[in-house]
Amino acid sequence: RADAEKFEFQAEVSRLMDIIINSLYSNKDIFLRELISNASDALDKIRFLSLTDKEVLGEGENTKLEIQIKLDKEKKILSIRDRGIGMTKEDLIKNLGTIAKSGTSAFVEKMQTSGDLNLIGQFGVGFYSVYLVADYVEVISKHNDDKQYVWESKADGAFAISEDVWNEPLGRGTEIRLHLRDEAGEYLDEYKLKDLVKKYSEFINFPIYLWASKEVEKEVPTDEDESSDEEETSETSPSEDEEEDDSEKAEDEKKPKTKKVKETTYEWELLNDVKAIWLRNPKEVTEEEYTKFYHSLAKDFSDEKPLAWSHFNAEGDVEFKAVLFVPPKAPQDLYESYYNSKKSNLKLYVRRVFISDEFDELLPKYLSFLMGLVDSDTLPLNVSREMLQQHSSLKTIKKKLIRKALDMIRKIADEDPDESNDKDKKDIEESSADNEKKGQYAKFWNEFGKSVKLGIIEDATNRNRLAKLLRFETSKSDGKLTSLDQYISRMKAGQKDIFYITGASKEQLEKSPFLERLTKKNYEVIFFTDPVDEYLMQYLMDYEDHKFQNVSKEGLKLGKDSKAKELKESFKELTKWWKGALASDNVDDVKISNRLADTPCVVVTSKYGWSANMERIMQSQTL
Ligand code: ADP
Ligand code: MG
Repeated sequence: RADAEKFEFQAEVSRLMDIIINSLYSNKDIFLRELISNASDALDKIRFLSLTDKEVLGEGENTKLEIQIKLDKEKKILSIRDRGIGMTKEDLIKNLGTIAKSGTSAFVEKMQTSGDLNLIGQFGVGFYSVYLVADYVEVISKHNDDKQYVWESKADGAFAISEDVWNEPLGRGTEIRLHLRDEAGEYLDEYKLKDLVKKYSEFINFPIYLWASKEVEKEVPTDEDESSDEEETSETSPSEDEEEDDSEKAEDEKKPKTKKVKETTYEWELLNDVKAIWLRNPKEVTEEEYTKFYHSLAKDFSDEKPLAWSHFNAEGDVEFKAVLFVPPKAPQDLYESYYNSKKSNLKLYVRRVFISDEFDELLPKYLSFLMGLVDSDTLPLNVSREMLQQHSSLKTIKKKLIRKALDMIRKIADEDPDESNDKDKKDIEESSADNEKKGQYAKFWNEFGKSVKLGIIEDATNRNRLAKLLRFETSKSDGKLTSLDQYISRMKAGQKDIFYITGASKEQLEKSPFLERLTKKNYEVIFFTDPVDEYLMQYLMDYEDHKFQNVSKEGLKLGKDSKAKELKESFKELTKWWKGALASDNVDDVKISNRLADTPCVVVTSKYGWSANMERIMQSQTL
């Protein structure tokens, strides 16, 4: 458009678009789910605003919160429109020209090497996937606060915006018009589109309609061939189309000579079932449905199944429904930005209405890796987000969610045949379902074990429950992971404390002189080799009435030793000499001990001081 205002894309966007446009990526389908997901977000936003201000919805057609897909086969245009919040001119410049989220350049980098665009939606740049199939895109948008504008770009580094004086007024919302490339002709096929919507957009909570053609057989009088059905191809709104079919009945009644002809008519066809999955009875939802629901929530369309899920209905003072998922993989930056990241992965709904997906009050930080949603019947609908954040029921919801989440995680272990030491259980023939659960807990631990440890540090209330979920290797576990319960079940008669040692690696710990005597006496010692373990053990004092004893620290008692007193007496002079010989600011004390077998002496740390390993960690942090 000649007099349009021209803009350049942010360099990063340009790069991204170049990659997309030149991509040989075969799964071009993804653009549709990204557009539908954006339309759904825009509808969520206007619905949310309408809770406190009814006026924003306007009247008539504008109140219909729906998504419409339309094809123009001749002009090769695919368009998707919504009656969502729309975009002002400023929004168009900002949202469709710059990338706000950090980490995007990492994504661009990765895409350049792997060419895998599948995760594009997770990076807040899903819109640009339109250039997989289109070489020219128009975005027509009307926001309540502004006029109607057209944004357009041929992905040549620039975009243009002009006030829309060409198209029909949208009322409110956005229409995206894709001028399809020649190679993308398949997206003009209605069946293909229906298929894609079923496959990727099943869980969108707004109706998705396709302007679909329909072959109808009609009887028309043979004597006169004027057809009386012009109005058939005119647009009808989705909700008004149902009564149309029998409109010719009256004419048929006269029974003149007729013949049958085939005709194509168009009507809005609903493509999705908008009944939310979380409102259904958990018993009636299949595993496949949960998996697909997870993929749509996580915007992760790989084939991987979530590791576990929990779908429940909380009743009582505070009523809500929730579905929680443990993803198959931890996001790369889960722990990198742990203390800075705010974003929770739970979506909050109040009575079916989407409120927010940045509601940090629902889960503690250490569980932020969980995906899912909460739909509350108790929270009020017509208050601001800030008011909601302070609502008293949130505490109850949070408490219950934590319980359910920890139960769900424990269940991964309970159902994993690899986890069981139990002979009886092992004797039962392993079913195929068992096979599927095999090794799942190790997988969980590998991805999210650190979160469990952070939980023990941060959440005193659930410390014991979380401790149950801990896994580690020991001096006897033979390279396998074991739990505190299993450790306790193998304790020697008379053993009170749980023995552990911390260090940089298992290999190093296995050679530690601190272990000599314990190994000789057949005690099992836990190896803690993760830097976070040092902090962890400052919070984990005991478990099921057993104290934790760091074997490299003062206070190790290995049963009664009758000779101890005698030895102490006879070496009195020597220990005195040693103490004098070593400067007092280097050692606190010199003692006779029974903790060693072959090594003559060892340096231990005091009960309350830092372990040598902690010194090592602190040093590496300050360097
Ligand atoms: P994301 O959806 O993750 O934010 P996208 O690249 O898909 O990233 O979209 C970028 C932004 O463009 C959205 O955040 C939104 O502000 C805006 N946008 C895209 N499509 C629409 C639409 N149909 N209605 C209103 N705003 C939209
Ligand atoms: Mg998007």
